[in-house]
Amino acid sequence: MLTENAVHAGDAPTAAPLVTCRLCGSAELRSFLDLGATPPCELFLTADATERPEATFPLHVRVCDKCLLAQLPPLITPEETFTEYAYFSSFSTSWVEHAKRFVDESVERLGLGPESFVVEVASNDGYLLQHVVERGIRCLGIEPSVNVGEAAREKGVPTLTAFLTPETGAAVRAEHGPADLVCLNNVYAHIPDVVGFTQGLRALVADDGWVSIEVQHLLTLVERTQFDTIYHEHFQYYTLLTGQRALESGGLTLVDVELLDTHGGSIRMWARPSEIAGEPSERVRAVLAAEEAAGLHTAEGHDGFAEAVSRVRDDLVAFLIEARRAGKTVVGYGAPGKGNTLLNYCGIRPDLLKYTVDRNPYKHGRFTPGTRVPVLPPEQIAKDRPDYVLILPWNLRDELIDQLSYVREWGGQLVFPIPALEVIA
Ligand SMILES: [Zn+2]
Repeated sequence: MLTENAVHAGDAPTAAPLVTCRLCGSAELRSFLDLGATPPCELFLTADATERPEATFPLHVRVCDKCLLAQLPPLITPEETFTEYAYFSSFSTSWVEHAKRFVDESVERLGLGPESFVVEVASNDGYLLQHVVERGIRCLGIEPSVNVGEAAREKGVPTLTAFLTPETGAAVRAEHGPADLVCLNNVYAHIPDVVGFTQGLRALVADDGWVSIEVQHLLTLVERTQFDTIYHEHFQYYTLLTGQRALESGGLTLVDVELLDTHGGSIRMWARPSEIAGEPSERVRAVLAAEEAAGLHTAEGHDGFAEAVSRVRDDLVAFLIEARRAGKTVVGYGAPGKGNTLLNYCGIRPDLLKYTVDRNPYKHGRFTPGTRVPVLPPEQIAKDRPDYVLILPWNLRDELIDQLSYVREWGGQLVFPIPALEVIA
């Protein structure tokens, strides 16, 4: 039977369609935000590829009526995305510094020493664990991607090539002993089997140990209309409440939380085995109260978001059409994956955005997926002296206002689309 969730992309990579909530099994899923059907956001096209058909996948986030987890069906699975992953975390110096601060604070907070054992899940190229190695603390990375895991080993970071499941968690514990700290950054949203993965975390962590999870926060996503952080490989969007429920599904209890600026607004959840966890901190109660006040602790409370997102699109598209009518030129800055959610949802093609630029040479001469906007080197902006530069990585706002100050030399202006349209002279 063909249901509205049925997959019909020919022999495109697919997994079982979403029919029930992946956390609680409820079949009552309510529409939260429907962004239409779009191609995978990192699939930049060569000139040849623009002459061929392009597979698209629905990008429709639903909220479970029962447990409130906001989720996307796993139409593009981690096995397809991550086994030959091209992203090396160490390329971003600010991210490496963020990781170092985390290690310093955790050593202090948990009293980690030479006898301790730290595991990072999705440890990438060892950007974080290298700081643990430096301190003489035993550690292990678990990383599914073969090539980035190899880069970590070359740095002296012991790394196992695997996806975390209850079985791999138990095998690591049997071989290396239980972990005093299990940490993971920006991965808890990227695993479709959230229950099995959480059981894997519980298998890894010592019975008196700690789990630290950094993940984007649905509260800031909603408050700042950051709908472009939604893409196919990002399967869950957590409030602290749904994060707490996900942890419970594997035998872990949330005890503390930190609010972070990363990715436009993230939470770092601290959890422990449920048997010994005790009461959650005052900070947990405060964040839960803020989410409740924003309506995110009821299913109906999620209903206004789609309308807010439409308004962001209306303002941006109206601006671009008006600029075009006035004979002004608009080009883009940046070609991040999330830029493609924005461009596709808003229907922004080269007639409204002549081209965009990016520092990554891999993307030069390619075209944005779906909308087919050319991607050029950054120097093109100074050559063409456009009237407006639309900023796609809006989260780097302050940094880019500085970096792009040369645009003012010819009277050009910067346009930020999110959280609300802002034009800076
Ligand atoms: Zn549910």
